[in-house]
Amino acid sequence: MKAYDGMYIGGAWRPAAGQDVIEVVNPADEQVIGTVPAGTAEDVDTAVRAARAALPEWAATPPAERAARLAALRDVLVARADEIAETVTAELGAPLKFSQAVHAAVPIAVAGSYAELAATYAFEEKTGNSVVHHEPVGVVAAITPWNYPLHQIVAKVAPALAAGCTIVVKPAEDTPLVARLFADAVHEAGIPAGVFNLVTGLGPVTGQALAEHPGVDLVSFTGSTAVGRHIAAIAAGQVKKVALELGGKSANVILPTADLAKAVNVGVANVMSNSGQTCSAWTRMLVHRDRYDEAVGLAAGAAAKYGERIGPVVNAKQQARVRGYIEKGVAEGARLVAGGPEAPREKGYFVSPTVFADVTEDMTIAQEEIFGPVLSILRYDDEEDALRIANGTVYGLAGAVWAGDEAEAVAFARRMETGQVDINGGRFNPLAPFGGYKQSGVGRELGVHGLAEYLQTKSLQF
Ligand code: NAP
Ligand code: MG
Repeated sequence: MKAYDGMYIGGAWRPAAGQDVIEVVNPADEQVIGTVPAGTAEDVDTAVRAARAALPEWAATPPAERAARLAALRDVLVARADEIAETVTAELGAPLKFSQAVHAAVPIAVAGSYAELAATYAFEEKTGNSVVHHEPVGVVAAITPWNYPLHQIVAKVAPALAAGCTIVVKPAEDTPLVARLFADAVHEAGIPAGVFNLVTGLGPVTGQALAEHPGVDLVSFTGSTAVGRHIAAIAAGQVKKVALELGGKSANVILPTADLAKAVNVGVANVMSNSGQTCSAWTRMLVHRDRYDEAVGLAAGAAAKYGERIGPVVNAKQQARVRGYIEKGVAEGARLVAGGPEAPREKGYFVSPTVFADVTEDMTIAQEEIFGPVLSILRYDDEEDALRIANGTVYGLAGAVWAGDEAEAVAFARRMETGQVDINGGRFNPLAPFGGYKQSGVGRELGVHGLAEYLQTKSLQF
């Protein structure tokens, strides 16, 4: 147990304004591993002022120099990858291998991509008799969740810094330690004082004060739809820009011509990885009625293999919430074929990898984001039926389509109301825009589209 002090503001760790702390718990064994200060509105104000003060110089720094700082940051993340993975494992509970392969590796790829984009992006363009300058939006407030704790910070900080913005980050209360490690990495990378600032604390206090601060020009939020809506309302009142990356209930559509075993196995792995705590997870598997029973059998077998390997969910509240959804699935008439609501271990916030068959569209487990290792398998009659079910939620973040023929899968994907679709198990691409249709959000992250979120245009006419 370690008591971590201070907030990273204006290029140094400074004492927090208040005395309150947040306990950080290891969800695998329920032990308190550390405490961090709980930020107040005063800390937020100090951080926003620091970011404001640093803005003119950073915005005027040549993009090539900003790129060099981001490349240095990427290198520090590489050098500290083991420490990052161990920290995420301790505070989120993810198995160490997954922390290494995803929680540590993806932020390296994203930081690297923005080092390149900062160097190559056309911050100035000509159209007719105008020169259009792409200028930084200003001071950014980033409010991030715990499920991919470093990725979600880097997916905001790297493009913001590439654009010439300065930033204040409020990480999730459950995962502040990797955020502190990241602040040290920023420092080591030689990023000038005040360009990046970190204030730990509780959402309704620290997060709220940050979203409300008049010195903030853009609020970039990732998390629940309920809080996202609240933040959008605050931003609307002050006509601030807002970017929201919210929930999902994505569909994994297995067309009749698909390689069923592959589609089911990859689909189950997608839902179980990170203990189901992935906003873009394909939590609804859609299978043609003729292959339904076979798919259910394969999915139940695949899920059972995760029993020993799966990590806990992040905290007791999430564990109770996920188990509540499993109970609701049973109560509404879905058929449990793997897992169930009982806690599989005495210690730690574990949930059994769970698969439901005979799920119908109207059921709660087919509509609401569960954020745990729970897969629902739905039956469709024909392609039109599959499309209607796939598009039949308020969300539209991601999805997958499997077919014997790639063109067939693409044709289906083009009709889906969603921001990202993996074709026959396509790989993650850190340059592809990520973000939601419908209530899954506003704006895009990653790649050049993610950079554009942090820029505004100024046109000069000649
Ligand atoms: P959340 O409350 O939306 O948390 C996201 C971030 O917003 C955290 O940093 C949180 O701080 C902060 N926050 C909370 N209330 C705030 C407020 N009034 N003003 C400003 N910031 C505020 O999400 P959660 O409670 O951790 O998880 C609940 C559910 O959200 C999950 O079950 C899941 O369905 C969904 N979720 C989605 C994603 C995603 O990637 N789309 C990620 C996480 C969760 P605290 O950490 O102090 O709460
Ligand atoms: Mg919360």
